[in-house]
Amino acid sequence: MNSNDEQKMQFILSIRSKGVVDNNVLKALEMVNREQFLKGLFAQRAYEDTPLPIECGQTISQPSVVGLMTQALNITNRDKILEIGTGSGYQTAILSKLARRIYSVERFKPLYEEARAIFRKLQLNNITSVWGDGSQGIVEQQPFDRIIVTAAAEDPPPTLLNQLKIGGIMVIPVGQSDEIQKLIRVERTEKSFKYEDLCDVRFVPLLEGREEDINV
Ligand code: SAH
Repeated sequence: MNSNDEQKMQFILSIRSKGVVDNNVLKALEMVNREQFLKGLFAQRAYEDTPLPIECGQTISQPSVVGLMTQALNITNRDKILEIGTGSGYQTAILSKLARRIYSVERFKPLYEEARAIFRKLQLNNITSVWGDGSQGIVEQQPFDRIIVTAAAEDPPPTLLNQLKIGGIMVIPVGQSDEIQKLIRVERTEKSFKYEDLCDVRFVPLLEGREEDINV
């Protein structure tokens, strides 16, 4: 075993020890090389279980949190997934190994463009990248089997909840952006929504509008 394989094995073991036990999710984490979604010196830290800076003042999520969110979605290979907050595209790539089709929305144009180029290079052909305000969801593609939001909202946006199929699952961090947030799992039932708290997390905020439409 070379040192890269060893590093990857340690990485998977450390994610497993944080509660990611679903074998399909662990396999997907093993298949996607996180350093491909990072730049410069940060790429050397790809196999640390920590969030790291990416462009536009955003962050690539912590790998164990990516694992826990993916596991909580309980994905099947027939699923059509909506992801809000493409960022580096790392979480999107993991989803693409497990689901039928992913629609991923990012509000920063440079991040959207870069992620799209990486998906093309890695031949992740079941991902559709969208530059837009994800808090509106994608009306033309709804309803979705699963929705994952990788930026924190004060509450799960009703617009997104409405785009979830009955029996569908949404995972989203909720709370104020400068505080510890709760990762929650919402399941849509025939008549209502069932909420479950998963763990404490810290994400950048879900913002309204596309980046070129407003001053940031
Ligand atoms: N899962 C990503 C996390 C990126 S951070 C990764 O691991 O790389 C969250 C991302 O959500 C940021 O890129 C931010 O620009 C984006 N975001 C925040 N609000 C948004 C919105 N309303 N629509 C689309 N993207 C949004």
